[in-house]
Amino acid sequence: MEKMLSVVVSVYNEEQALPIFYQTAKPILDRLSWNYELWFMNDGSQDDSLKVLLELAAQDDHVKVVSFSRNFGHEAAMIAGIDYARGDGIVCMDADLQHPPSCLPEIVEKLEEGCGVVTMVRTRNESAGVVKNITSAGFYWVINTLSDVKFEANASDFFAVSRQAADVLRGSYREKVRFLRGYVQNIGFKRATIRYEAQERAAGESKYSIRKLLDFSVNTILCFSNLPLKLGIYAGGTAAFLGVAVMIYTLCTRQGAPSGYATIVILNCFMFAVLFLIVGIIGEYIGILFSELKDRPIYIVGETRNVERGDGESRR
Ligand code: UDP
Ligand code: MG
Repeated sequence: MEKMLSVVVSVYNEEQALPIFYQTAKPILDRLSWNYELWFMNDGSQDDSLKVLLELAAQDDHVKVVSFSRNFGHEAAMIAGIDYARGDGIVCMDADLQHPPSCLPEIVEKLEEGCGVVTMVRTRNESAGVVKNITSAGFYWVINTLSDVKFEANASDFFAVSRQAADVLRGSYREKVRFLRGYVQNIGFKRATIRYEAQERAAGESKYSIRKLLDFSVNTILCFSNLPLKLGIYAGGTAAFLGVAVMIYTLCTRQGAPSGYATIVILNCFMFAVLFLIVGIIGEYIGILFSELKDRPIYIVGETRNVERGDGESRR
């Protein structure tokens, strides 16, 4: 049977870019060795994007449109796209042609070779500007330092997953505060990386404000690292150590000080150390709670041999 590629495109106020995107992508998709479906996820656009999409859908059966009731954000649009897509491979890309559709044949080739995840890494991003490039580099440095999981800098929202990998994303990784790109880089499977040159935006302007990006970065760090929670226990440890030092110092040098001075200092140090340690311990528990709540898979199976379907499933 012919294989199918699902292309998922998130759309937010892209009425100008959409026709250009479609004109560019269509001939490339038609020439693929796989069949295809083109999913447009309209993320609550306030302009005429939906109208444009409905027109495209009316004249082309490959075009599927899902329209949100309001704006839920780019990631929500991609996740919904992955949920809806039925292909053997799923590609997520932007509607503004910054992710060149000319990469699609190469992506199909990689999927054909059995890759579970194809990460697209941009070689340059001139249109983003210096500020965005520096903040992006800074963000990856912080997250890679704080988190056990390593992220590839410059990996974009442009990626492809096989059906098997998509099933993992569909089943697990349903967190409300999330970083899809991070999950894609962490589910394992055979991986491939393709480099591409980020293009200028075809039309319109970027929908990501600095504030949105900042929110997003903070969420990601909280999402992929428990270090901020552990600060309590580190502070507790440090406070306890300093407390003991001050205590000894006060005990040794209290001559001349008003009576009761040593008691106050010692009590103070002692209480603060206990307080911080308890906060730290609570932090540890919240960390565990947080992991349980995220309900990430304990393991993900790539393939099996001579294993009956159903074996091990009860243990999942
Ligand atoms: N987008 C979306 N919902 C949003 C913001 C953006 O679906 O709330 C889409 C947008 O239409 C585009 C893609 O996500 O297809 C990337 O957005 P944009 O090009 O504005 O971001 P940038 O490339 O500047 O990082
Ligand atoms: Mg863009």
